[in-house]
Amino acid sequence: MSKNANDIGNFGIVIHGGAGTILREKMSAEMEAEVTARLAETLRTGYEILETGGSSLDAVQRAVNVMEDSPLFNAGKGAVFTHDGKNEQDATIVDGATGMAGAVAGVKHVANPINLARMVMEKTPHVLLIGDGAETFAVTEGMHLVDEKYFHTERRREQLEKALEKERKAGKGAGPFEVRLSEDDRHGTVGAVALDKEGNLAAATSSGGMTNKKFGRVGDSALIGAGTWADNDTCAVSTTGHGEYFMRGVVAYDIAALMAYKNMSLEEAAASVIHSKLTLREGTGGLIAIDRQGNFTLPFNTEGMYRGHLMKGGQVVVRIFRD
Ligand code: ASP
Repeated sequence: MSKNANDIGNFGIVIHGGAGTILREKMSAEMEAEVTARLAETLRTGYEILETGGSSLDAVQRAVNVMEDSPLFNAGKGAVFTHDGKNEQDATIVDGATGMAGAVAGVKHVANPINLARMVMEKTPHVLLIGDGAETFAVTEGMHLVDEKYFHTERRREQLEKALEKERKAGKGAGPFEVRLSEDDRHGTVGAVALDKEGNLAAATSSGGMTNKKFGRVGDSALIGAGTWADNDTCAVSTTGHGEYFMRGVVAYDIAALMAYKNMSLEEAAASVIHSKLTLREGTGGLIAIDRQGNFTLPFNTEGMYRGHLMKGGQVVVRIFRD
């Protein structure tokens, strides 16, 4: 992988806080202000690291931490509930400079799953650790585990109740995926992609997955190539949406592949993948991506996506709705 293509000295960070049916008329002014403020804080946190010469890897991790620590997003503190009333989280981090990656799936007592993903990348010879094993590893590395109650928020509990009610109404024979969840029940996955002054790209994604998920379901946020990708030769990508479509379409990596093999621009590649791997298959979601020059794109096919960017010398830009 080429080390430094950043001859123009560009740097910056792009973030998302989940895609879904996010409609202006359904969102209170208070909620809109809270989300906007937290996304702006997230951007500033990442940007400051980049501006002072820090790595894109640190920037995406710390940016994701800000959103994980907020109950507003479906990651960390605000993670959605599983069918059994648990919170099982997935996260992945990828270093575009080295091609290294770390991920965790189904962790239940980790306040910041992206931090554990990074530890997997840096302190084990593996890429993905799951459940109890991942938590045992966390403890051996000195990470403090939190009580399950840390994740219990009223809003997410209500969303589970609603989903269970819908399932009951749909009848006994309906399997978990025959009852289509409203997008309201799951938006809020968080992610960040960044380019640093050295020309290195990195990406991170953290998610509680989908409300009412069952049987140890794992989403795209735990899978390198599906929900998260970075390599210095092409781009860094973090996705959000109906994970099964992102997994089947290997969405994040597909964008990099189109750039590498078909010489597409970042924007072209991302739009093409959203169309072919999501829209044509009736999957929903969105993504953020940045390339080695600092071009970035934030496409989605849902009503809205919490998103923002802050590039070298620019302004904080935060958007929620489609317009
Ligand atoms: N992609 C996540 C998952 O399927 C959920 C989301 O982004 O809303 O687990």
